[in-house]
Amino acid sequence: MAIPIPQPRGDVLFESFAAGPLQCNCSIIGDAITKKGVIIDPGGDPDHIMSVVERLGLTITAIVHTHAHLDHILASGEIKNRTGAKLFLHKGDKPLWDSLEQQCLKFGVPYEPTPSPDSWLTDDEAISCCNGVALHTPGHTAGSMSFWFEDHGILVAGDTLFQMGIGRTDLPGGSYQEISRSIEDRLFRLEGDALIVTGHGPNTSLEFERRANPFFGRGV
Ligand SMILES: [Zn+2]
Ligand SMILES: [Zn+2]
Repeated sequence: MAIPIPQPRGDVLFESFAAGPLQCNCSIIGDAITKKGVIIDPGGDPDHIMSVVERLGLTITAIVHTHAHLDHILASGEIKNRTGAKLFLHKGDKPLWDSLEQQCLKFGVPYEPTPSPDSWLTDDEAISCCNGVALHTPGHTAGSMSFWFEDHGILVAGDTLFQMGIGRTDLPGGSYQEISRSIEDRLFRLEGDALIVTGHGPNTSLEFERRANPFFGRGV
């Protein structure tokens, strides 16, 4: 079944691509007029990330994270060095961020010392470009965030919502009850349709998941 994937709307520069050893989807979004942009989840391959930033002609004003599993933050320190932008994370994921070295050991991934986040994101906080807003959507981890760009019809959902699936809740800080509430009460209540960039694998559509995601008893 082919899922109709909406395209971003309006004056926006947007790219997402799999990055790093665990192929997390990294997103770059920028205002086509002001050329200010943010990077979401720099999970690796900093040279590639910076080449996209340069091709789009963006000045990066913030580096934001959906959560602090290693595969979403592995290039964060390097990208901070290269752009001078600040690192943003929900405080609920501070213990995970602080355990990056142990996470790397567990997955056999080389560890790069990474500076602490510069600022704690809170629910409904504005993102510094494209009228974005950070939504606290716990459940995959305690501090999981989704980033909603209503003007452009883009939702970056991290490991909370996947095409016909939801994120794992069996890792430290995970909760099935919370992820269900986050998706039903926050993400599915956003207006209209949108492109959803998931944490790994294919994109999907908000309208489609609202109707067909099997975890919410709907079925196709
Ligand atoms: Zn994760
Ligand atoms: Zn992930």
